[in-house]
Amino acid sequence: MTAYNYQLILKNIFPGSLRNFGDQEIVYSDKKRFTFNQFYERISRFANGLKEIGVQPGDKVAVLDWDTNHYMESYFSIPMMGSVLHTVNIRYPPELIYLTMQHAEDKYVIIRDEFLPLIEKYASMFDFIKGWIVYSDDTDDVKTSLSPSYNYEDLVKNNEPMNFPDIDENTQATIFYTSGTTGLPKGVTFTHRDLILHAVSLASSVHREPLVVRDNDVFMSLVPLFHVHSWGLPYVTILTGNKYVLPGRYDMGKIIELIDKERITLSLMVPSILYMILNHPKAQEHKDAFSKWKVVIGGAALPRGLARLAESYGIRIIAGYGMSETCPVLTLALYNDRISKKNENERFEYRISTGIPIIFVHLKVVNEYGKEVPWDGKTIGEIVVRAPWLTKEYYKDPEKTEQLWKDGWLHTGDLAFVDSDGYVHIVDREKDAIKSGGEFIPSILIENIVSEIPGVGEVALVGVSHEKWGERPVLFVKKLKDITKEDIYDHIKKYLETGRIQKFWIPDDVVFIDDLPKTSTGKIDKKMLRDMYENMKK
Ligand code: AMP
Repeated sequence: MTAYNYQLILKNIFPGSLRNFGDQEIVYSDKKRFTFNQFYERISRFANGLKEIGVQPGDKVAVLDWDTNHYMESYFSIPMMGSVLHTVNIRYPPELIYLTMQHAEDKYVIIRDEFLPLIEKYASMFDFIKGWIVYSDDTDDVKTSLSPSYNYEDLVKNNEPMNFPDIDENTQATIFYTSGTTGLPKGVTFTHRDLILHAVSLASSVHREPLVVRDNDVFMSLVPLFHVHSWGLPYVTILTGNKYVLPGRYDMGKIIELIDKERITLSLMVPSILYMILNHPKAQEHKDAFSKWKVVIGGAALPRGLARLAESYGIRIIAGYGMSETCPVLTLALYNDRISKKNENERFEYRISTGIPIIFVHLKVVNEYGKEVPWDGKTIGEIVVRAPWLTKEYYKDPEKTEQLWKDGWLHTGDLAFVDSDGYVHIVDREKDAIKSGGEFIPSILIENIVSEIPGVGEVALVGVSHEKWGERPVLFVKKLKDITKEDIYDHIKKYLETGRIQKFWIPDDVVFIDDLPKTSTGKIDKKMLRDMYENMKK
């Protein structure tokens, strides 16, 4: 007899999960609720339905949807039958939706009725798609001119549960495209093993202070399911048996009600979402629910002002860091042994830092020769990483893959220093870095300082071209109250007087703006701000 060759594949999460937490719930907004047992029944019937219409192992199946139960089901059903889930970025303009689906070589598409008009308009271009699987919240009888089309719920109803195959753990499970603020988006791919080890690491990291996630925590990721596996939470939840809530299409008023009604205790999101939630008229009415809420902010630095505002509501907030290429999570701003011993006030700066690597992540900040910089709280270098779950390639792009994986380390393009306690502090991303007179200006530090001013909402410091200095910083501010440029300069100058910043870091100009432009994943679009400013000056 030979030993059973156990593979780290998604199918293997379920026996333990259903045995122990089969009655735990997955909730889709105020619309539907399923137990884990019912969820599994649906994904296994649906997978057989897909097989029945011709979906083969290795085929790419695209999904166009908001954060719904159908979408979460596809996170499991498609990879578990050996096919590949393509989470299409529905915030892309139509031409990028088309280009990424064509580049991925998608064969089938699962699509919510709301997205049908968009695709039907360009139907003839999607001649490479072999079948469309449609559904709606409102009717069982969805009409579409796309052909051939199948009804999702019929595929669930009319098929027996699949006995999912034993596949190799290195089988590709997912593909999606980076947000692509410059150039065309790049495809990144992840295997079953990647997803499992990422989920295991995340699940076993978050028990630490100050998150202390436990079995009665209720999860609701506010990172869309189309973006980097919603930061892995849908996989973690099945593993750990926590209740999971899907918000549907993002409506901040609804989300606040859900936090209250479903007793949500853990969410992940980019800063702009939290700004919108806390500045929403309903925030006051449901403010008690926030006191039990833990929030991890990632995708961009956590501004100090936002963290203070959140804490004034009783929210336990920390930063996290990762990128599309890294599945995504690399670090969380949890306490290591040394920081646990400090008092609450001292720990604040660690909570808003980029944090410490989670289990399995090897991370170093290196200089231009690849040598690790000292942990001195000031020497800046690039973050490079190794972990078991990083993308092995940019899909069909060997040249960019080579740059990404130079010297066997994944190069993040993020600039940071490390303090004497081992905490990473990102100061900028290479692409956005401002160099003035040959010297580097740490934009996140200035943004943090300005974010402290009461009445300041989102802020962004960008570099604009300058004849003498090469580049100079310009500050964009969304104001929530009546504040003036002088208020901002007065506040920054306090830091100058105490020697915490240098004079040439002070922005040349401050521009008030109603809303900062965002990328398709909800982050501030600095490229657009630079272009806007250059155009204003013409
Ligand atoms: P994306 O691939 O769209 O998720 O973007 C990843 C990039 O977001 C990273 O390379 C960083 O530049 C930025 N980012 C993510 N998390 C943080 C963080 N905690 N602090 C600063 N920048 C971050």
